[in-house]
Amino acid sequence: MTSRPLLLVTGGSRGIGAAICRKAAAQGYDLLINYRSDRLAAEGVSADCRAIGVNAEIVQGDTADEDGIATIFAAVDRLGPLYGLVNNAGVVDVTARVDEFDRVRLDRMFAVNVIGKIRCASEAVTRMSTKHGGQGGVIVNISSMAAVIGSPGQYVDYAAAKAAVDTFTVGLSREVATEGIRVNAVRPGIIDTEIHASGGLPGRARDLAPIIPMQRPGTADEVADSVLYLLSPQASYVTGALLNVSGGR
Ligand code: NAP
Repeated sequence: MTSRPLLLVTGGSRGIGAAICRKAAAQGYDLLINYRSDRLAAEGVSADCRAIGVNAEIVQGDTADEDGIATIFAAVDRLGPLYGLVNNAGVVDVTARVDEFDRVRLDRMFAVNVIGKIRCASEAVTRMSTKHGGQGGVIVNISSMAAVIGSPGQYVDYAAAKAAVDTFTVGLSREVATEGIRVNAVRPGIIDTEIHASGGLPGRARDLAPIIPMQRPGTADEVADSVLYLLSPQASYVTGALLNVSGGR
């Protein structure tokens, strides 16, 4: 059992997820930091959080996979009760047109970015909902401005997956509004993380700066600040919101 509110961050080992973990630790949350492959990175984030004085455990698990989800929520049950879920784990793929997509790409894109997020939210609601004897809680889904822009010529599949996250956020928020659970989404714009390199465009955040009204990419810390707000009691009347953190784009 933990004495501080327990926060599960999927994909907490790098980028935006890691920034959320570090800021949450500074605000007094205990952390369960999920990662898929980069154990060293997850251990680094965990060490940083522990240095602040909170509990921070890591748990390996692919959110696109039922075994992974079972492992993650077994760890939650060991540490719980669960106060918050940040549904952050997400992937892009290499730049391609829709007429170049194959089935394998689409299956992975939707398994990680949509089904994995819905499954993690289901498991969280089971534990948080007052209808199920829980104490309530907060879910923040990490969407993307791609949901609005559509990302033509880059990854329309990713954009469509993020649009599904937006609709899921609104629907779930209304479904559990009387059960002590708030559900919101943050839509980052172009943020300077390694995700762009994983899509084959390591310079993407810098290269696209001129098309952003603020003329610069955002930082993982700037996204994390918005997530921490939505998790906090200061957002007690905010549910079903889709918060753009995009420098105006
Ligand atoms: P990132 O730097 O590539 O980090 C991704 C994180 O997710 C890593 O910790 C990775 O863990 C984890 N992950 C990926 N697939 C996973 C899976 N199936 N199961 C568990 N963990 C998984 O990405 P990021 O830029 O921080 O992106 C975080 C979220 O923000 C994503 O949902 C992304 O779509 C969204 N977003 C990002 C941007 C941007 O410009 N960066 C813009 C809009 C939205 P391992 O390293 O262990 O694999």
